[in-house]
Amino acid sequence: MNRSARSTPSSTELTLTADPRSLRRSLLDWYATQGRDLPWRRNRDPYAVWISEIMLQQTQVKTAWPYFERWLLRFPDVQTLAAADVQDVLKLWQGLGYYARARNLHRAAQLVVADHHGEFPRDFDAAIALPGIGRSTAGGILSNAFNLPVAILDGNVKRVLARLVALDVPTNRAMSPLWELSETLLDRDAPRDFNQALMDLGATCCTPKNPACLLCPWQDTCQAHSLGITSERPMRETKTPIPHKHIGVAVIWNDRRDRILVDRRPAKGLLGGLWEFPGGKIEAGETPEACVKREILEELAIDIEVGKHLITVDHAYSHFKVSLHVYHCAHLSGEPQTIACDEIRWVTVAELSELPFPAANVKIIDAIVADSANSGDSGDSGDVSQTKPSNLA
Ligand code: SF4
Repeated sequence: MNRSARSTPSSTELTLTADPRSLRRSLLDWYATQGRDLPWRRNRDPYAVWISEIMLQQTQVKTAWPYFERWLLRFPDVQTLAAADVQDVLKLWQGLGYYARARNLHRAAQLVVADHHGEFPRDFDAAIALPGIGRSTAGGILSNAFNLPVAILDGNVKRVLARLVALDVPTNRAMSPLWELSETLLDRDAPRDFNQALMDLGATCCTPKNPACLLCPWQDTCQAHSLGITSERPMRETKTPIPHKHIGVAVIWNDRRDRILVDRRPAKGLLGGLWEFPGGKIEAGETPEACVKREILEELAIDIEVGKHLITVDHAYSHFKVSLHVYHCAHLSGEPQTIACDEIRWVTVAELSELPFPAANVKIIDAIVADSANSGDSGDSGDVSQTKPSNLA
């Protein structure tokens, strides 16, 4: 299906106060001088463009850039990515968050190799059928890699368009008309440059706070600007309070005090496939220490002694916050079972850095290394047998 030719039904009419042709012209003129020099624009390799589009979902350019460069060194083409171990893929992604993106990239690479002769498909329906590729991402890849006239509507573009027409509802209640507007504006003679320009306008000029309207090529026709309501557009949904979970976490040392127990989360779901220090939610009226002991018995079927508090790590996810209350623990009895995880390993402190962990757990690793160093061990050898018993007291 040619996505660009599809007409999108709309429940709300969005009215432009300027001819789309003049908006295209002014945006492309602005882009010619103000567009960003980004690594994925220097080379239109569809694989590199695809990787960049996935990394830029939910992530800013300055954060994604070094990951993108490391990625292409490690996985330079789709065949290399498809053949890689998913744990290596997750390790390279460590710190970027939204790890389903990495798992989906890996799976999609295998499908591109198996079903598309190793070439990213140019067809919209085939592209959107790949894991992790939604409508806007497909538009970003197809327009940037192949210069195909397919519209985009990522977070930045939604904000620009909502301001351009002074949208009077939150964007998620006007997706059909916003898509229709993006398709109306798209320059079919220069879809690559137009979409890239629209992204740049949102990222560098029409920013969430304090947009630089005086530098904007659309300031004369932007309705939010002319009404003086840029700070009120896009409108926001009424915020619901973000849940805050408290989690008890165990750094469990083995009997020789030279290895720590870590587990790999189930492949599907939040942080799927990543390694972590075991633990669970602190119930009402429960102390963190009691929680840690109970959770480890329930999830690993082993008995532990809960020792010294190591660190409390606060971390925010998109829909909730967590505080991880972390304790040194000593294994007492029982063989660990994979009741709530896919794999268990006893690893040295040095080996922790070889596995993919979520960002909050990386802070725990840093604390373990620092604690080991303070106790007279560098943390490099993994031999903490002389230091850990005191930490457990
Ligand atoms: S004039 Fe201001 S609010 Fe309107 S599109 Fe430009 S930067 Fe955004």
